[in-house]
Amino acid sequence: MLNSDLHSHSTASDGVLPPADVVLRAATRGVELLALTDHDDLSGIAPAAQAAAEVGIGFVSGVEASVGWNGVSIHIVGLGFQPDNAALAENLAGVRTSRLVRGERIAADLERIGIGGALEGALRYTKNPQLLSRAHFARYLVEAGCGRNISSVFEHYLVPGKPGYVEHRWPSLEEAVGWIIDAGGVAVVAHPGRYKLSAREMRRFLDEFRAIGGRAIEVVSGSHSAADIRRFASLARRYGFLASRGSDFHAPEESVIDLGRLAQLPDGLEPVWRLFY
Ligand code: AMP
Ligand code: MN
Ligand code: MN
Ligand code: MN
Repeated sequence: MLNSDLHSHSTASDGVLPPADVVLRAATRGVELLALTDHDDLSGIAPAAQAAAEVGIGFVSGVEASVGWNGVSIHIVGLGFQPDNAALAENLAGVRTSRLVRGERIAADLERIGIGGALEGALRYTKNPQLLSRAHFARYLVEAGCGRNISSVFEHYLVPGKPGYVEHRWPSLEEAVGWIIDAGGVAVVAHPGRYKLSAREMRRFLDEFRAIGGRAIEVVSGSHSAADIRRFASLARRYGFLASRGSDFHAPEESVIDLGRLAQLPDGLEPVWRLFY
C-alpha cells in the first residue's frame, strides 16, 4: 500500500521544522505522498510543494481547522484544495487574529496562578504570533519547569477545567467544511478517537458532517490506538466515508508516531488519496 501521510505540521503553525524540512524528513522515512496540514495557515504549502517536487514525492495541499461543535472542539483537515483560493485564505486570516487574543487571555490566567511571562515565553516558540497555539504555551511551560513533558503540562494547565484553559469561539463545523469544499478540497475528520464524545454523539456528529458534505475520516492516526483504528474503520465503512492516514507529526521529540511510520489502512476501505494520486 502507498506510504501516505496526510496530516503534518511545520513552523507555519505549531510544528518545529520548517516546511521544506518536514518534506525532507518524510521522504527520508519513506513517505510517498505527503500533506502538510498546518493549523489555520497556508503559508507552508508553497515551500513544501517545491521541496516535494525536488525530492520526488507526491504532495497534497492541506490545512487543519478547529471548529466548535456542541461545545466540543473538533479538528477538520482540508485536503487537495486550490491553495490560492481567496475566500479560504481570508477566512483563515480571521481565525488567526482570534488566536493571539486567546493567547493573551491564556497568559493572564497563568499569571493568576503564579506563572509569569507566558505570553512572551510562548511567542518565542512561534514564527508568526497569529498562529499562537496551546502547543507553544506547552513548550514554554516545560521550559519554565512546570512539568516534565508536553503531555503532562497539557494535562495540568491547558485542557478544559484547568487554570490555563480559555474557552474560544472557533468557526462552526458548517463554516469550516464549507470553506474547504468551496476551495475545491475534501473535508476529513482529524483524529476522531481524541474527542470526548459518547458513541451516540459521535454518530450524530458524523451524520451532520456527512450531511454538510464531509467525505472522509482519519482511520489511522498518530493519536489512535489499535482499538481506535478498528472502531473508525468500521464507522468509515458504515457511513461510506473515504479513509485517511496521518501521523499528525509536530516535532521529532514530541510526536508519538514519526512521519512514514503509520500502520496500514485496514482492509475494505477506500483510501482518500485515490482522489489525488
Ligand atoms: P490550539 O489549536 O492552540 O488549541 O492547540 C491545540 C494543539 O495543541 C494541537 O494541535 C496539538 O498540537 C497540541 N495538543 C493538544 N492537546 C495535546 C495533548 N494532550 N498533548 C500534547 N499536545 C497536545
Ligand atoms: Mn498542533
Ligand atoms: Mn488536531
Ligand atoms: Mn494536527
